[in-house]
Amino acid sequence: MKKWVVKAIQVGSIELDRSAMTHYKGKGETVTVPIWCAGATDGEHKVLVDTGIRDLEEYKKAEPGVSQSPQQDTVEAVRRIMGWEPEDVTIVINTHLHCDHSGSNGKFKNAKFYIQKKEWEAAFMPLVPEAPFYDQLCYDKHAVNYFQWEFLNGDTEILPGLRIITTPGHTRGHQSVLFDTAKGVVCVSGDICNVAENVNGNLEPNIVVMVPEVYESFQRIRQTSHFILPGHEPEIEDGSEDFIPVI
Ligand SMILES: [Zn+2]
Repeated sequence: MKKWVVKAIQVGSIELDRSAMTHYKGKGETVTVPIWCAGATDGEHKVLVDTGIRDLEEYKKAEPGVSQSPQQDTVEAVRRIMGWEPEDVTIVINTHLHCDHSGSNGKFKNAKFYIQKKEWEAAFMPLVPEAPFYDQLCYDKHAVNYFQWEFLNGDTEILPGLRIITTPGHTRGHQSVLFDTAKGVVCVSGDICNVAENVNGNLEPNIVVMVPEVYESFQRIRQTSHFILPGHEPEIEDGSEDFIPVI
């Protein structure tokens, strides 16, 4: 079976209180964490998981500590790490539609976009506390033509060695992406794990809309994955194929 190569692509940084990713743990400790996307290929397909932010000033309204160098602009970063032009990307998988994960969807005009139906619906009717993180300009009809969306209802195999599993909790329709690589199964987790400590320490992230589901999602990741690329893990290098072991 073909193996996938998966690389971490940094598309910005956020300075925040550590407890913003690990519930109450680390309160008062300021840390700077990356915003990750992932590029993946089986030698034929060019797949992007998440697309970073849309507009720096706009995203500051949700996360005042955000910064982005010119090389971290999503299009630039994908070009630098993967060697791809935006029109080369034919599959985009959004783990969820928060504005630091779907912000540059509109730049990938040739892609099919994979999302859980539940997440797409929730993004147009957010709960009050999650509203600041959903920016409709990232995923409405101006960003992505309706017919470019592939709406999913649960776990799905997209291609050989490329599976999506549902991991609700951080948002209602959150999903994570599993790639079969030469080293084992890599989970691009999105924000069900902001950092690897969430799954490895069984410690929920701070933004949670469904608490029991978070812990069930951790269990699904432990059962399926050898390595994890969390949404904001600082212990991973830009462009790296080495991720954090799931214990
Ligand atoms: Zn999020």
